[in-house]
Amino acid sequence: MPILRKFFPESSQTIENQATRATLELMYNISRELASALDLRTVLQRVLFLAMKNVGASSGSIIVMDANGQPVESALITGEQVHKQTTQQLKVTFERGLAGWVFRNNQAVVISDTSRDERWLRRPDDELSQTGPKCAVSAPISARDHLIGVMTLVHPKPGVFNQEHLALVQAISDQAGIAVLNARLYAESQRQARVMTALAESAAAITATLKLDDVLQRILEQISQALRVDVVSLGLIDPEGNELVFRASTGPKSKEVIGLRLMMGQGIAGWVAREGRGAIVADASKDPRFYPEVDRLTGYVTKSIACAPIRSRGQVIGVLEALNPHEGAFDSDALLVLTGIGSLAGTAIRHAQLFERLQSAHQRYRELFDDSIDPILITDWDGHIQEANRQAALITGIDTDKLLEMTIDQLRVIDQEIAGEHFSNLTMGRTLSYEANLYSQGSSEVPVQVYAREVNIDGVPHLQWILRDMTERKNLDTLQNDLLSMIYHDLRSPLGNVVSSLDVMETLLPEDTDPSMKSLLNIAIRSTERIQRLTNSLLDLRQLEFDQPITNRVNVSPALLISEAIEAVSITADSKNQDVTSEASGDLPDIWADVDMIRRVLINLLENGVKYTPPDSKITVGAEQQDKMVMIWVKDNGLGIPVPDRERIFEKFTRLHPKEGPKGLGLGLSFCRLAIEKHDGQIWVESSESGGACFKFTLPVAVVEQDVLAG
Ligand code: ADP
Repeated sequence: MPILRKFFPESSQTIENQATRATLELMYNISRELASALDLRTVLQRVLFLAMKNVGASSGSIIVMDANGQPVESALITGEQVHKQTTQQLKVTFERGLAGWVFRNNQAVVISDTSRDERWLRRPDDELSQTGPKCAVSAPISARDHLIGVMTLVHPKPGVFNQEHLALVQAISDQAGIAVLNARLYAESQRQARVMTALAESAAAITATLKLDDVLQRILEQISQALRVDVVSLGLIDPEGNELVFRASTGPKSKEVIGLRLMMGQGIAGWVAREGRGAIVADASKDPRFYPEVDRLTGYVTKSIACAPIRSRGQVIGVLEALNPHEGAFDSDALLVLTGIGSLAGTAIRHAQLFERLQSAHQRYRELFDDSIDPILITDWDGHIQEANRQAALITGIDTDKLLEMTIDQLRVIDQEIAGEHFSNLTMGRTLSYEANLYSQGSSEVPVQVYAREVNIDGVPHLQWILRDMTERKNLDTLQNDLLSMIYHDLRSPLGNVVSSLDVMETLLPEDTDPSMKSLLNIAIRSTERIQRLTNSLLDLRQLEFDQPITNRVNVSPALLISEAIEAVSITADSKNQDVTSEASGDLPDIWADVDMIRRVLINLLENGVKYTPPDSKITVGAEQQDKMVMIWVKDNGLGIPVPDRERIFEKFTRLHPKEGPKGLGLGLSFCRLAIEKHDGQIWVESSESGGACFKFTLPVAVVEQDVLAG
């Protein structure tokens, strides 16, 4: 150990051994002392105390610098007294005195007489009348090849310290360097642990709820606890991204703060929101970014600010702002904690917002479900009712709670044949629709149209049953039936009598009858015939709907039917100056049809042509043979029928222009379709060349004709 030999070069063997042991003991004690403490100031004080004791120094100091050469920690002992808060005091020594020289030159030095060395900074107590000249030894403290401080020891008598003391002090300084490093590492890990603990605690607290207001409140509480500050506020950027709106705040002025708006970039909070990075402002009044208007409004005095962005999925969505710490100033740790909580807060706020949206969507769905005019039931795949809306309870007369204990088949709306065993016909996204009679407590059954299909609720397949009340429609059907039977029984036969009487009258009229009389009779005949056609079509419609077969089919010439039909509409067509002509050739085969019914089909199509075509237009009827069918068409140059409506006009009560167009019932074409299809033919509509409508239908050629054709 060269230092020790240097320290005791001329000693005898025994003395040298004793000295070596003493020094080893000293080093051992120093390293043990150093190892037993991790707080930097305690470490420094212990090192200094041991060093002083061993060289008989009356006072000593250690000063430690940060990476920028600024004093950060120190120890000062005079006699037995350990001084507090010495860093500032030693700063001067460091700047102008011996310690500074040692630090700048990175060199240990012994000063035998402080009164004769320029490097010694003279203080009042150096006066002769006070402590007078002394001797001093000062050595740099290094750690990992970096200068981190200086240790200085002072002996009250000049000339006591020599090179050996210097070597010993240097050795102690080296030990101290390691200890300082350890203490720093420890302090750093402590600091990180504190930050991590604060963040972990915040994370646990913030994510423990999904209610947005609670989340915001907890964020603020966590920050208040972690940073120990007066006020914490939270602002969120509005959806347009122009303004920061304060949503939550702690402290006595919180009510005034909530709802306050700052433009992006306005004030420290606005600046942080715009820049997306945190800021610490030690003295708000001196920062040009500070926006004093908020203080003016709230009457609060902001001194220092720590502000960090709240981020969600990489985007700044708001800011967290902490004001006026209870003790000291905001340090970089405060910003670290605030930024960390800002990231946590972003995710938590986003989750809470999504949850709120989900809840309101659920609420909306619930309202729609409950307010639906149709009774709706949700069951599992075993038929157990899981949900029932208000209308379901109302129509069945069973409370919702009771319904939830029942199965759907108890309500008698299952048609086993249609739904299949275990509702097997409802798989693969199929919707079933059928009529049933719903069980209703206390009253007779309710006729319903059932619409059943599979729905997914929270990822679990369920069945949805919409039970549309058909009572009114059923009543209407009954009314319609009653009306039709009234037409049949009470109108049909008297009308037949009128028609035949008019026919007889026409034949009985003498040759020289006044032409105006004749014409009046004609009008009466045609009008009654029209009424008769209408009643017949209505009755036919009903019978065809009930699948009644057509019994009175005969062979008939299509050309004849066409001319009779044209004749029937001629007066109306003439009144609109419309030209109705036939293009049917004379050599068409007979068709096999219910003559009266097909004539009415043709008249219906022609009447529509006349009705839906403007005056002075042209309507043509034609026919041609197509293999074993004859195709007949009625073409006009009116408005035509838009492609999307070409199927539905054949449905009952469909009218394309019910308000502004000519009057009608919307039954004519549905009668035509039923009649033609009952004859094994087809009917459809196309556009005519002029853009008007061209109705076409086919009918089978008469059997005899077919034989002739075949033979
Ligand atoms: P109605 O004529 O009594 O309304 P229809 O069943 O005969 O009932 O016709 C149904 C609808 O089809 C009519 O209301 C009309 O809008 C449309 N339509 C029928 N024929 C024509 C046509 N030739 N040109 C234009 N629209 C027509």
